[in-house]
Amino acid sequence: MNPKNSMAPITDEHSLPVHLNLNVRGLEPSATLAINERSNRLRRKGRTIHKLGLGQSPFPVPTPLVDALRDNAFRKDYLAVRGLRELRDAVATYRRRRHGTDCSGDDVLIGPGSKELMFLLQLVYYGDLVIPTPTWVSYAPQAHIIGRHVRWLDTKESDGWRLTADAMDRLCSEDPGRPRIVILNYPSNPTGGTYHPQELEDLAAVARRHHCVLLSDEIYGELHHEGRHISIARFYPEGTITSSGLSKWCGAGGWRLGTFIFPRGLRWLLDAMSIVASETYTSTCAPIQYAAVRAFQGGTEIESYLKHSRRILHSLGKKLAGRLRAAGIEVAPPQGGFYLFPSFHPHREALAARGLTDSVSLCERLLEDTGVAILPGSHFGRPREELTARLAYVDFNGAEALSASQSMPLKEPLDDSFVETHCGGVLEAADKICAWIEE
Ligand code: GLU
Repeated sequence: MNPKNSMAPITDEHSLPVHLNLNVRGLEPSATLAINERSNRLRRKGRTIHKLGLGQSPFPVPTPLVDALRDNAFRKDYLAVRGLRELRDAVATYRRRRHGTDCSGDDVLIGPGSKELMFLLQLVYYGDLVIPTPTWVSYAPQAHIIGRHVRWLDTKESDGWRLTADAMDRLCSEDPGRPRIVILNYPSNPTGGTYHPQELEDLAAVARRHHCVLLSDEIYGELHHEGRHISIARFYPEGTITSSGLSKWCGAGGWRLGTFIFPRGLRWLLDAMSIVASETYTSTCAPIQYAAVRAFQGGTEIESYLKHSRRILHSLGKKLAGRLRAAGIEVAPPQGGFYLFPSFHPHREALAARGLTDSVSLCERLLEDTGVAILPGSHFGRPREELTARLAYVDFNGAEALSASQSMPLKEPLDDSFVETHCGGVLEAADKICAWIEE
């Protein structure tokens, strides 16, 4: 029997016996964080590494937020478990203004990153977790740690990797009335695509019919490349929990600030999560919460930061997708965020001749041969033998690109020379991938 799954303690003659929770045995560190640390180690050894593994915003935290954090560094008290009242109100006001959602500060829960809030949600809600693939790396491991049942829902490249209402309906009809959380993440990590409003409306109708809780992960919503993100909460307000935070649109991943907005009818979930929060992390970092109020107040400086960030990501994503396609790599058009999910399938035979028959060996060899770090599709819920991967187009100097874009009128799109000059490292990485695949 595999010792990782056996009930017997794993012993080491020099230390105490290892008694690991069965749900944790055999787990590896999260792929996104592991590739980042590995890339950094390789760079320290002197290798040229293109860091397209971890999805971290290339842009600096907007100046008004940095100033607000400095001004609030003295805040030392524990704050309310659910979050600073001013921040909860600011999040609700922002949401009402941007999306017309009927909500107040009482419906908001603040946490140390939306990832932690997702874990708490799965812990307190008793039901299956339905995950359309490809999907972000951590939803399923969280379910596994807690002991929840995961149902994968396959999507097709030809549907732009989007979940269809029919597929969701088929799954829910197998066992009507079963409690379920369905996760939707759009603009998507890992594909960069998003849903059309009609598709959201159709999915909402299925969710309503089957009484599903929808966890709408909109952490990349503000990075919709045309600033036209629409939330499914508009079509299914009574069953949608909206998840977001500062990590992506404010370039503040390391600040660890996440937000959940609940419909009134799911207040019991907010209450239960707050109880667990009070027994685990207590409350979210005080200075960060005070500074975050500034982000949700918005204003011209933050608006301009967002518009320029979107414009840069839009031009770079388009350019990269074009380069990869020219080398026969399939890739869906990027619409938001900073990811592409290329498929190397058209090169399957040539890759097999080089001994590369799955996404893990493909990404390993690519890193060894070219220094380009991307993550295999298998980490995103795809079959190992499918030759897909996630590429995060973030390895460029975001501060420099942002200030260059800010000196140019917003009305016009950025031309090729802008991307060449300010995001050249990412284009170079794409060229390396293309040359390597065509070898
Ligand atoms: N969400 C980012 C990613 O997918 C990084 C953070 C994380 O995974 O925890 O790369």
